[in-house]
Amino acid sequence: MLGEIRGEVRFKEPLSFHTSLRIGGAADIFVVPQDVDDIRHALMFAEREQLPVAVIGGGNNLLVGDRGVRGVVLRLEGCLGRAEFHGEEVLAGAGVSLSALIREAAAQNLGGVECLVGIPATIGGALAMNAGTPDGWIGDFVSAVYYLHPDGTLGEFKPAAGSFTYRAFAAPAGAVLIGCRLRLTRRPLADIQKDIRQRLKLKKATQPLALASVGCVWKNPPNDVAARLIEKCGLKGKRLNGAEISSKHANFIVNRGGATAADILALMDLARERVQAHFGVALEPEIRIIGE
Ligand SMILES: Cc1cc2nc3c(=O)[nH]c(=O)nc-3n(C[C@H](O)[C@H](O)[C@H](O)COP(=O)(O)OP(=O)(O)OC[C@H]3O[C@@H](n4cnc5c(N)ncnc54)[C@H](O)[C@@H]3O)c2cc1C
Repeated sequence: MLGEIRGEVRFKEPLSFHTSLRIGGAADIFVVPQDVDDIRHALMFAEREQLPVAVIGGGNNLLVGDRGVRGVVLRLEGCLGRAEFHGEEVLAGAGVSLSALIREAAAQNLGGVECLVGIPATIGGALAMNAGTPDGWIGDFVSAVYYLHPDGTLGEFKPAAGSFTYRAFAAPAGAVLIGCRLRLTRRPLADIQKDIRQRLKLKKATQPLALASVGCVWKNPPNDVAARLIEKCGLKGKRLNGAEISSKHANFIVNRGGATAADILALMDLARERVQAHFGVALEPEIRIIGE
């Protein structure tokens, strides 16, 4: 079955090559599918061999353990990379880059999704995480999600109220998202560009974009902001080996070079404990942690 995959199959592939944090041990079996059939072959192989499957997109929200990931890792960035525009709707593959999609839509005077600009993501990862900002999240624009069940059969999901919530999408268990339909809005290119420039300027001013990170580590607790709580605990700039609670934005942990997953997890433990002790607030991770 692995032999039928037309894309790439690698063994012991370091996942630090595929995560924005540049951290992570090796995946036992790493598959970069070329198309939906390749994904099916990988899923069928995993099912036959009773191996777990993990899906990654751009790796921008992932902390991978230092001892790597057992089983099969499917990486969809660079696969299913087509976007087709039909009137005010776009049908986008899971591997499409979110920022490329926003740019392509803008060139056709289609907007609405500007609130998602500057979020490094594939469409699959953006859907799985319900990526967004206080001005809106991707779920606001989704009219259908297409996916494969673990047995390789195709599914279609029509979102209803509650399908997309804060940094979560209630996808069917084990689903590999392969694409979606997004509703866009007609808007002049110049207006979209102005909006995008302003949003990117704000991001650059407030986030440590020059350093390797996973974006915000913690969800904001109800009626508060995680960065404020961590900063109030005096942890801004706190370092452990190559890892640092960013001195620019306390909800980011950056890899200044040579940090391990263990370092990141230790800083997370410290922030969680201090915030609990000072404010009685239990921080919940926004990032996804996989592997050993
Ligand atoms: C500098 C920086 C700034 C950021 N700013 C923001 C922000 O403003 N707002 C925000 O929401 N996020 C932000 N993030 C986090 C990140 O960009 C988002 O979570 C994004 O959606 C991750 O997409 P990805 O393709 O990299 O997914 P990955 O990190 O690869 O995966 C994330 C999760 O999605 C799952 N997944 C990915 N693809 C699929 C698929 N096809 N099928 C099923 N499951 C899948 C993975 O299993 C994993 O659980 C930021 C990150 C960085 C590094």
